[in-house]
Amino acid sequence: MALIVQKYGGTSVGSVERIRNVARRVAKWRAAGHQVVVVPSAMSGETNRLIALAKELQAQPDPRELDVVASTGEQVTVGLLAMALEAIGVRAKSYTGWQVKVLTDSAYTKSRIISIDDARLRADLDAGCVPVVAGFQGIDAEGNLTTLGRGGSDTSAVALAAALKADECQIFTDVDAVYTTDPRVVPEARPLATVSFEEMLELASLGSKVLQIRSVEFAGKYKVPTRVLSSLTDPDIPVEVEGRSGTLITFEEDPKMAMEKAVISGVAFNRDEAKITVHDVPDRPGIAYAILGPIADANIDVDVIVQNVGHDGMTDLSFTVHRNDYARAVKLLKDQVQPHIKCREVSGDDRIAKVSIVGLGMRSHAGIAARMFRTLSEEGINIQMISTSEIKISVVLEEKYMELAVRVLHKAFDLDQQ
Ligand code: ASP
Ligand code: MG
Repeated sequence: MALIVQKYGGTSVGSVERIRNVARRVAKWRAAGHQVVVVPSAMSGETNRLIALAKELQAQPDPRELDVVASTGEQVTVGLLAMALEAIGVRAKSYTGWQVKVLTDSAYTKSRIISIDDARLRADLDAGCVPVVAGFQGIDAEGNLTTLGRGGSDTSAVALAAALKADECQIFTDVDAVYTTDPRVVPEARPLATVSFEEMLELASLGSKVLQIRSVEFAGKYKVPTRVLSSLTDPDIPVEVEGRSGTLITFEEDPKMAMEKAVISGVAFNRDEAKITVHDVPDRPGIAYAILGPIADANIDVDVIVQNVGHDGMTDLSFTVHRNDYARAVKLLKDQVQPHIKCREVSGDDRIAKVSIVGLGMRSHAGIAARMFRTLSEEGINIQMISTSEIKISVVLEEKYMELAVRVLHKAFDLDQQ
């Protein structure tokens, strides 16, 4: 008998019919002798709808009240799912985040989980009942409702699995696995049977939308075996088959497996960023801080940063920000920073994309960057910026070349091969 936490995404609980299917899937795992805790998202589109309602009343909704509103989507699905389970003879009980108690900090709309009280859930499990816990929400020390950021029910599920020391956290979603890249861009993309936690963390931060990044951080911190699998298969497929399907996030690389594995595990991309360049700034101590300090103070996240070698006492500094922050960042630099540092110009480009290759194999193989750059040059693709970590290389390029770059890199690193 295993203890399993199952998370179902918005599409998976998007209608009463689909909620019935989820109930059948849960019933199947119960019938196979396992204990199950279920964490659903809100019905697909519901959280967007709730946030839009709030924005009709306040352009920048009060964060505390926004969380009161946005967290209701999950309250609906836990209740409905518990009913669907009872209707087919599975004992179940719904819980909101505060009933459990999922304690978070008070950073409304992006709170972090501090602790989870497992007492009521344990009592239910011992009594043969399935707790159905609302994802995405919690409560702070003062008793205010909080939410965990968009996509946060992934994190709720992994955190519950950690608190309950579950044998596995299964994230049921509308894709059937983590792929070598997005199959919509590269039809030859292949599902990965396993992916290391470090690779998954990079993929999530680089734009793969399969898991919320905080859930991956949580899985890594507490070593929660986490599996991504499809909720769109026949709900009655045998548990032995379903339990091995999808992609398992692993923590210790089996050396034998590592030898056989491809050097690169995946190609990630995103077009959420924009590039800003500050031209001809005096090349002296404090300049990077003078430029990026005010950006940080304005709560704008910076990603890739490149500073050129100085020439004639001058240098250029380029960096990327989220596209949503682009206009604000440029204005801030022109209005507040340029007059002080006396740079020649602030320019920008929001038609860029970032393409990255990710793989643990980079640690032990040389020449990966060279192969990446050669592949891109053979297609005449200009690289504007480069950034690396131990297991990833990212390049910034013109947006219109993004899909081409992803395709040729996927092929160059043999990701289309079994
Ligand atoms: N319902 C929330 C959202 O749409 C949380 C989640 O689905 O994970 O972001
Ligand atoms: Mg999601």
